[in-house]
Amino acid sequence: MPLLEVEDLRVSFPTPDGVVHAVRGVGFVLDRGRTLGVVGESGSGKSVATQTIVGLTQGARVSGHARFEGVDLLTMTPEQLRAIRGVKIGMVFQDPLSSLHPYYRVGWQIVEMLRAHTDMKKDAAHRRAVELLGMVGIPQPKRRAEEYPHQFSGGMRQRVMIAMALALNPALLIADEPTTALDVTVQAQIIELMKKVQAEFGTAIIMITHDLGVIADMADDVMIMYAGRVMEQVDRRNAYYRPHHPYTVGLLESLPEASREDERLLSIPGQPPSLIDPPSGCAFHPRCRFVMPRCRVDEPPLQRVGGDSVHHSACWLPGDLLGVSAETDADRARAALEAGGGTPESAEMSRPAEPTGTVRTGQTLDMGAAEEDNP
Ligand code: SF4
Repeated sequence: MPLLEVEDLRVSFPTPDGVVHAVRGVGFVLDRGRTLGVVGESGSGKSVATQTIVGLTQGARVSGHARFEGVDLLTMTPEQLRAIRGVKIGMVFQDPLSSLHPYYRVGWQIVEMLRAHTDMKKDAAHRRAVELLGMVGIPQPKRRAEEYPHQFSGGMRQRVMIAMALALNPALLIADEPTTALDVTVQAQIIELMKKVQAEFGTAIIMITHDLGVIADMADDVMIMYAGRVMEQVDRRNAYYRPHHPYTVGLLESLPEASREDERLLSIPGQPPSLIDPPSGCAFHPRCRFVMPRCRVDEPPLQRVGGDSVHHSACWLPGDLLGVSAETDADRARAALEAGGGTPESAEMSRPAEPTGTVRTGQTLDMGAAEEDNP
């Protein structure tokens, strides 16, 4: 039995402007000891989906299933969920200052959390709090336990949050942009810490981020979200080397690479859509350079691609068009043109490549081959 099995999760919020359809049929499976990376732009529904699972989206209309150890979290009462949060499911959020109370000492806050969920005596809870602070790499933990949150740096505060989230050895840790506000050195330390904890306790992790670099460091599987839907589900290696969905390809192309000093960063044109009135058909179609007539009408289901049982993509392009090379993009463009679609940019791609050296992000033409093709 998987640790967490989410099926057809739908979340919407009534607002004065209309109903916001924040999550529209999300499903995934997470096993013990595995890390699922959830990636997407702001407003893609990645945080709302996970917060709903643990009952933190009050006022939302929710349907679907989220079975944790076989029991549906979405049917639990607030009291039942409170008993699970912090005990079996730990959470770490982007801004630790908003989760730590500024008025109370850090050690006291951990002690209170331990005592709220266990029958630990005060002295034992204090010893455990100091032990936890030491475990997450806070120097002189006994002394630091007596200090207030404002006396900690951003990275140290995030370590405190991880210590609190892991205090009761949860089976699942939900980390929502835990490293976004930190500099890259501290970011690397926090990721190493989470990996260490996972190896030690077999914790499953859902890592929510817009940073594909973080995913490369720690995820086993990746779920790409856009406009409240899953666009692609894939293992980490294939996410980087054999993506299928044009949105995933666009995200990869927008990654800065140190070796491309002379090139401008690429971005996905356009804006994420309104979730009050999402686009018809494929939600990504207004921004997709391979858009075909069918994409504007029919919503593509999440289906197997690349002959791989774990690789799924919600896109009407042929399932064997995988990768981030100029050649694959040209094949995608040809497929789009044959189906009566494509854009001027994609039409350009479908022509044989010109021997002009570097043509696309991270892709360098094989000059010899290009010259043979274009005598
Ligand atoms: Fe969506 Fe069509 Fe583009 Fe695929 S090709 S991402 S279905 S618009």
